[in-house]
Amino acid sequence: MKNVITKTISAIIEIGRGMSTIMKHFFRKPITLEYPEKKPELNGRFRGRLALLTDKDGSDVCIGCKTCAKVCPCTDLIQIETSKNPETKKLNVDRFTIDIGRCIFCGNCTDVCPVTAIVSTEQFELADYSRESLVLDKKGLTLSPEESEQVRDKKERERK
Ligand code: SF4
Ligand code: SF4
Repeated sequence: MKNVITKTISAIIEIGRGMSTIMKHFFRKPITLEYPEKKPELNGRFRGRLALLTDKDGSDVCIGCKTCAKVCPCTDLIQIETSKNPETKKLNVDRFTIDIGRCIFCGNCTDVCPVTAIVSTEQFELADYSRESLVLDKKGLTLSPEESEQVRDKKERERK
């Protein structure tokens, strides 16, 4: 009999504890989001889909040094082909592809770029139906001058 009473009391205590936890969380702001209707606010240092910036006149910022490709831990993920411009003696970037399906978003490429030509964006919804469509070419990677300016402004604000 004594055992039954002890068990009943302990069950009531446990139910009370459970109810108090429920009530505590009932009035709290939820930390989960109804994704995809609601999108999360991302940290400024979030590393999403990579992109190439352009100058105000729409020309490439990239100087074709290939440093990003060298530091990328995934073999041949970034592929760049260049040719020498006979007039300016600078390199033209003829081909620039990133296999975003294999990218681990480590940020090495953006960190080492000497001219901040390659940047991480906040785009994280990258799912697709084929691996081939995840290989982004120069056109697909390049942001417009306006978009590039927005990225630069944002980075500048974050630095302050
Ligand atoms: S983020 Fe990392 S894995 Fe992705 S392309 Fe850049 S260096 Fe390579
Ligand atoms: S993106 Fe930057 S690091 Fe990569 S080739 Fe262009 S200038 Fe060099």
